[in-house]
Amino acid sequence: MTAADKVVVVGGGIGGVSAAVALAKRGTEVTVLERAPEIKEIGAGLQLGPNAGRVLQDLGVMDAVLRTAVLPHRFVLRDIYTGNEIYQATMGKEFVQRYGAPYTVIHRADLLDALLEVALATGNVEVVTGKEVVAVEQTDTAAHVRCADGSTYRGDAVIGADGLRSAVRRLTLDDSEPIRSEYVIYRGPGPRPEGTEDAVMLFAGDEIHLMQYPVQGGELLNRVLSFRSRTAAPGSEEWATREELFERFANTCDHIKESLHTLDLETRWVQFDRKPMAGWSDGRITLLGDAAHPMRQYLAQGAGQAMEDAVVLADALGSGAADVPAALAKYEEIRYPRTSAVQENTRFFGEMVHLGGAGAILRDAYLGTLADNDYSLAQWLYGTDGVAPPRVPGHMDIYSKS
Ligand SMILES: Cc1cc2nc3c(=O)[nH]c(=O)nc-3n(C[C@H](O)[C@H](O)[C@H](O)COP(=O)(O)OP(=O)(O)OC[C@H]3O[C@@H](n4cnc5c(N)ncnc54)[C@H](O)[C@@H]3O)c2cc1C
Repeated sequence: MTAADKVVVVGGGIGGVSAAVALAKRGTEVTVLERAPEIKEIGAGLQLGPNAGRVLQDLGVMDAVLRTAVLPHRFVLRDIYTGNEIYQATMGKEFVQRYGAPYTVIHRADLLDALLEVALATGNVEVVTGKEVVAVEQTDTAAHVRCADGSTYRGDAVIGADGLRSAVRRLTLDDSEPIRSEYVIYRGPGPRPEGTEDAVMLFAGDEIHLMQYPVQGGELLNRVLSFRSRTAAPGSEEWATREELFERFANTCDHIKESLHTLDLETRWVQFDRKPMAGWSDGRITLLGDAAHPMRQYLAQGAGQAMEDAVVLADALGSGAADVPAALAKYEEIRYPRTSAVQENTRFFGEMVHLGGAGAILRDAYLGTLADNDYSLAQWLYGTDGVAPPRVPGHMDIYSKS
């Protein structure tokens, strides 16, 4: 029994399509409305921790994912200037047994294709593209959306999975601007140099980093390069230019310097997040994924958290829920503490990655004491045993930096 026979999902990204799969598998009819002319992801990679892996397994998507995903055998932190290894965590059999799912790295388009394939195979999901939702309303018995072309859709519930600049969020909760980071992102998959390990490798330096891992069956190497630029307002022409990039990476190790020449330096990505804000669920309308809790990328959890949302949402609406508003309130009550902790801690983790001077010396000395199979730092995030998330000290300080 489910409280909602028909649900409208706004947004056909990873969060929206995951929600469609989770709801459809429980017998709900789902209409996904996507603004773009086709369901498509940007050309970059994605890491999925075992918490997201468990969702993929639950949703029956893992087999499709494994057609192109790579299972890295370790996570490595290196000094970006010397190339020396600071810390490693193995992610083999012991890791998989402990967390019940592997760590996977995948091209975003491949993940979205896999989710869509499973969604459509349920027979309960209709995807309509070219539909920009511009209004959302509700009565005691239903929720409605209106699209820019004048068409309307009705459901027992409406899920706003429409990303960082969510229209559903703006219309129901909050119309503020997200926070822009001074850290620029250059990213994308490129040729995989011979001898590159099947590993997630993070090269950390003083307000700079480079992350790399293989995607597309190991054929390509995805890289994400970032540095804090203070030259101009984030996103403006003069901000984080190619010249500044080469200057900031001038004293990095040879591997990194060589990487710069094969990385796509055409597009500079601005990174955004928001402070946690409760109130996603308003009667028959709720938010999911980046619409609800956009976060910085340092813990590689934005998509994973959206996928976790999807399962909790479908469970709340299913399993004998009394009514839709109660089920959506329950969904937020379960998810808010977890997603807030990830939003805050991902900023904190970013600060740790970008330490310089004595801070970096202390970080490296501590991490150097950990065994390869000591996953205690990530237990709160990946585990199922209820380990509390790290309490972020000086909460306001974390958001005082952009
Ligand atoms: C550099 C970087 C690296 C990252 N790395 C990772 C990682 O390794 N692992 C991880 O888990 N996460 C990662 N993330 C985060 C992750 O990309 C996002 O959290 C995730 O894609 C959010 O999915 P979503 O479906 O909520 O939103 P989106 O992907 O933004 O999807 C929203 C969809 O809604 C559509 N839409 C928008 N407005 C409307 C409207 N009005 N009507 C209809 N449709 C609309 C959009 O076209 C889009 O298709 C990273 C982010 C960045 C920036």
